[in-house]
Amino acid sequence: MEERICVHCGCVIEGEGYWVGSDVLCDDCASELTAICCDCDERFYVADDCGDSWRFLCRSCYEGNYTRCERCCEAIRCDEAFRVSEGCYEGDDLCESCYTQRLRLCIATTTTTAMQSIMRTLLSLLSGWDLQRTTSVTCGILDTP
Ligand SMILES: [Zn+2]
Ligand SMILES: [Zn+2]
Ligand SMILES: [Zn+2]
Repeated sequence: MEERICVHCGCVIEGEGYWVGSDVLCDDCASELTAICCDCDERFYVADDCGDSWRFLCRSCYEGNYTRCERCCEAIRCDEAFRVSEGCYEGDDLCESCYTQRLRLCIATTTTTAMQSIMRTLLSLLSGWDLQRTTSVTCGILDTP
């Protein structure tokens, strides 16, 4: 059998070795430097990884079939991306979980805004009452010759 030399560390490879295009790597180098694309099952260099925290994607698969969730930066298949048509994140592509969460986040934002306006109304009522009282007191002082 032809002797294979690891392109990375130069050691003699026992067995088949691991191929990345025309490069062949030994066990150690392969596990350290390469990964398997979850889409095409090809081995590629992790330096070219276009995936996310939980999967590896080679550049060509990513560029051909994937986009990135605007919110969590996860790689998503274009046909599984959710394009937001209105409201929060309008025009963005989101993954399914962010898309679902987005609705919750929007509600949360709306609720917060509603709460804030109630609080603001309450505060203005309170300060208005305070202001009136202060004014009348001031007037009282002013009215006193
Ligand atoms: Zn090696
Ligand atoms: Zn791939
Ligand atoms: Zn996401």
